[in-house]
Amino acid sequence: MPVKETTVEIKLKNLKNNLEYLKSKITSKTKFMAVVKAFSYGSDSRVVSQELERLGVNYLAVAYTQEGVDLRKFGIKIPILILHPQEKDFDNIIENQLEPSIYSFRILSFFIKALKKKNKTSYPYHIKFNTGLNRIGFLKKDIHKLSKLIKSNLPKYLFSHLGASEDLNEKKYTKKQIEEFISIDKALEIELETPLKKHLLNTSGILNYSDYQFDMVRSGIGLYGFGNDIKFEKNLKPVLTLKTIISQIHEIKKGESVGYNKGFVAKTNSVIATLPIGHADGIGRQYGNEKGEVLIENKMAKIVGNVCMDMLMIDVTNIKCEEGDEVVFFDDKSYSAEEFSKKANTISYELISSISRRIKRVVSR
Ligand SMILES: *Cc1c(COP(=O)(O)O)cnc(C)c1O
Repeated sequence: MPVKETTVEIKLKNLKNNLEYLKSKITSKTKFMAVVKAFSYGSDSRVVSQELERLGVNYLAVAYTQEGVDLRKFGIKIPILILHPQEKDFDNIIENQLEPSIYSFRILSFFIKALKKKNKTSYPYHIKFNTGLNRIGFLKKDIHKLSKLIKSNLPKYLFSHLGASEDLNEKKYTKKQIEEFISIDKALEIELETPLKKHLLNTSGILNYSDYQFDMVRSGIGLYGFGNDIKFEKNLKPVLTLKTIISQIHEIKKGESVGYNKGFVAKTNSVIATLPIGHADGIGRQYGNEKGEVLIENKMAKIVGNVCMDMLMIDVTNIKCEEGDEVVFFDDKSYSAEEFSKKANTISYELISSISRRIKRVVSR
């Protein structure tokens, strides 16, 4: 689709393709939780969540409570896990039928207080254990004390998160996390005197460790088209494309500079195109100074000088182009967000989740 301004296109056909591919890696009994945190990894959480609900995913997950409240207000009905609730959130969580992740004694105490206040004796939640990522979660040594506190309102799921499931050089570390998870499950089931349902795998976990799918898997980046490994590139299709147009072209002489603080000084007479997108739109300064490259008329053009807040400049000296011509930052065909992000030493997750909301979204089916 040709664009007339900076535009993010959300291709729902690709989302469906990715969901089907990820589901082909698990059994039909295993539930699928779609992770739609951070505005659905920079796309549009309402549009994407609605489509995922329509396509039959069992669960959604977001990081923070407000993200879940927004989805409920929009009319999403399927269960929503809040991965990282904060102490003030629990009234809101309960009122909106959201399922919190309980990851510490401190957070558990706020949850229990909110349930008492609302006269509830049972309420669905997921209990989170730290098995090596050392980010959030209870530890195995907490099980005895924890069990006494949760025995009257049992968790709907036990879960943990892998720290390096995409890195096959870290198989030993991942296997250790999996073993720790299984041993936590056993001990907790004994203390609580009941079997527990579980989820562990993220996208790369599904792709590389599908034996450990348990009762549900959680996928984010894979749904948006990235498998953290080129071997999955033919099966997963990027959902987002980011395109803009050339606002203006300047011919500059050898020795002249471009942008703030003379970030670029022309070594020869050059042609410079200005694009209406900057670091406030999610193209950070790390892409400036000839690190980042964009695609124009099927040729690569380097970003020159410092990325400004609302604009950036590219060198088009050797490219035949005009004002108004289309420029691709990433798409689902020849130039992926993974490739673009690599040029500035970052990853697709950071790039796509940072695309600012002021950029126009267009949804295609
Ligand atoms: C973000 C997140 C996911 C999704 O991970 P992907 O690698 O994007 O599939 C799963 N689980 C937790 C706990 C997360 O924070």
